[in-house]
Amino acid sequence: MKSELSKTWVFRYAPDRPDFIGDKGSGKMRFVAEPVARLIEEFNKLPGIGPKSAQRLAYHLLRGSDEEATSLAEAILTLKEKIKLCSVCFNITDCDPCLICQDTERDHSRICVVEKPSDILPLERTGKYNGVYHVVHGTISPAQGIGPEELKIKEFLARLQDGSVTEVIVATNPNVESETLAMYLQQIITPLGIHVTRLARGLPFGAELEYADDLTLGQALENRRDF
Ligand SMILES: [Zn+2]
Repeated sequence: MKSELSKTWVFRYAPDRPDFIGDKGSGKMRFVAEPVARLIEEFNKLPGIGPKSAQRLAYHLLRGSDEEATSLAEAILTLKEKIKLCSVCFNITDCDPCLICQDTERDHSRICVVEKPSDILPLERTGKYNGVYHVVHGTISPAQGIGPEELKIKEFLARLQDGSVTEVIVATNPNVESETLAMYLQQIITPLGIHVTRLARGLPFGAELEYADDLTLGQALENRRDF
């Protein structure tokens, strides 16, 4: 079955005529085989992949060996088959509990709350954190009808019940909706007698004061610290 979008792509992506934009409506000229057009269309849906990159990737795979293409296809299939959410922290994992939750070398009295699984990787890369995590899977967004009960917050509160957790680090993103989530978490966790901290807001490394926006610079000033 060919979607309207595929039809568009068929005309746009001419391998031998990259400048050809095509007559989308006529349906008479066909420059790209349907399977190639379909793959370009799929790649183009991925974040950070524009039409040109999608085209380059599709033709790269076409030129490569059957094994390469099969290996990629299998990796994509097993991603959905084998990956599940950790029953403790709700990070994505192929074993339950996940490797972070299983790690006895880590400090389980500290939990860092993040919005999505992909937020864990950059925090881990810093090498500065040895606690565990909790992924709430989203932010509070009244406009989109997403309240706290739609997130993994109930499960998080359950983790705090045994009194072993001494600090919760709120590592939400610096935007309005995430701020609502951060405030909400602070309000419900503080009464439990647990120390709640959050990531400092401030200037990125390499930034110049002269070009910093008022909000960022104001927060950097508020979050100033001793040397
Ligand atoms: Zn886990």
